[in-house]
Amino acid sequence: MLYTTPPEELGSFLGDEPRYRADQLRQWLYQDFVLDAAEMTNLPKPLRHELSTKLWPFAVEVSQEGDKGRTRKWLFRAPDGASIESVLMGYNDRTTLCISSQAGCAMGCTFCATGQFGFERHLSAGEMVAQVAYANAHLKAHPMDRSPQRVTNVVFMGMGEPLANYTRVEEALRRMIDVVDMSARSVTVSTVGVVPGMRRLAATSWQIGLAVSLHAADDELRSTLVPLNNRYPLADVIDACREYYDHKGRRVTIEWALMKDTNDSEEQAMKLAAIANDLRAHINVINLNPTPLTDEQPADRPTLEAFMVTLEAEGANATLRATRGQDIDGACGQLRSRVTEQLITIEPNPA
Ligand code: SAH
Ligand code: SF4
Repeated sequence: MLYTTPPEELGSFLGDEPRYRADQLRQWLYQDFVLDAAEMTNLPKPLRHELSTKLWPFAVEVSQEGDKGRTRKWLFRAPDGASIESVLMGYNDRTTLCISSQAGCAMGCTFCATGQFGFERHLSAGEMVAQVAYANAHLKAHPMDRSPQRVTNVVFMGMGEPLANYTRVEEALRRMIDVVDMSARSVTVSTVGVVPGMRRLAATSWQIGLAVSLHAADDELRSTLVPLNNRYPLADVIDACREYYDHKGRRVTIEWALMKDTNDSEEQAMKLAAIANDLRAHINVINLNPTPLTDEQPADRPTLEAFMVTLEAEGANATLRATRGQDIDGACGQLRSRVTEQLITIEPNPA
């Protein structure tokens, strides 16, 4: 498959074609973006025909749109059956794609739909970059209102724990930065706290953003929500955040999904603010997206507001994030959970 072959080795698809064909093909795959190889107009027709079944390493199983086309979500299916989800979100100043780094996830966080499914397999670097390329090709064919017509930002916040798939994620980052020419600063890796991976990423030369999913500000509570906390407790995660900040000079983002009667207390807010202030981190609070497989519920509106007021009073730098695409199962792993469980029937809705 074209995207699962390193961009430097595309010649292997081209037989006796002249060498410049590899550059033309690379241009189509990583700069110009087309949904179908038939659109690669400077390649000979028989070659286009031959490449057409080799373009995408997955089929589009479900395609959904919400927020008047400014949120688009795809569930892709690899030939071996592995599922891959991506969500595209248009804003006025940027177009952000949320990509998956694994099919499923082995981390088992209690509030997360992906975590409840367990682990299928790692995604390859090419499968990660192909999600970006597909979104770009889709944007070209179906422009979005009032947003950049190209993916400007990538966040590793779809399915999977990117730092548990470190080597392939690092190669995907290399291709996004060096081959797609994305700015490292506009790419964010989100982790539940895989400390060795955080340290390896800190040691790279890229100005990649790091988001850390904390969700609890002491070990006792965190271990009940995030099983990995038993292996890498909070103090180690915080230490790795500090190292990241020291190496990159970039503020780390702390992610906090607010759950009713679980982590929405004033006490947690105070402890969270202390951690964030110490790290000079930014806090992103998002109210939980309820998923069919867990008991956790989103916080009530007044509690949520009180939580934000406490953070602010403590001098922490915090933003309440609106959830995008709730009408299309925008949260982590939710589209697949619906499809797999057949709780509701979704008709494919090609944009
Ligand atoms: N494994 C990585 C990245 C994927 S999850 C991580 O955990 O950081 C991306 C983000 O979605 C994480 O911050 C995660 O905690 C959050 N998340 C998972 N389930 C959620 C839910 N039901 N509602 C809101 N956020 C959720
Ligand atoms: Fe995996 Fe992240 Fe979900 Fe936890 S929150 S189960 S690490 S995808």
